[in-house]
Amino acid sequence: MAVHGTGSYDPDNIFAKILRGDIPCKKVFENEWVLAFHDIAPKAPVHVLIIPKKAYVSFIDFSKNASVEEIAGVMQSAGRIAADLHLEQAGYRLITNAGQNAGQEVPHFHLHLMGGKALPAFPA
Ligand code: C5P
Repeated sequence: MAVHGTGSYDPDNIFAKILRGDIPCKKVFENEWVLAFHDIAPKAPVHVLIIPKKAYVSFIDFSKNASVEEIAGVMQSAGRIAADLHLEQAGYRLITNAGQNAGQEVPHFHLHLMGGKALPAFPA
């Protein structure tokens, strides 16, 4: 797996292990850009994590170091997953946590896609 950005990417973080197939996940979608799977501790009826296949720590790392093609690929994949899960009409939330103050637990950039109920006012 390529390492980008600050050099602080931990290749043994849990999402890197999921990407390598070292630990399982409940896969929702996969293409050349992303792997998407159900969050192990869902905060909503639909709670899917969308992670790039390449190694980025955070959104800033991704935005600085991914190609325009990859950024488009990841974001278009997120839109397709939301549509495939029938979230367009009911509404959904797409967020990323970055760093300690935002409560980022896993240091591999990821998007949380949440929906399927009335979500609490943001920020919760
Ligand atoms: O944005 P943050 O880094 O806090 O989110 C990490 C998410 O990864 C959590 O919602 C957690 O439940 C999820 N997770 C998972 N499978 C694991 C470990 C963590 O879905 N094996």
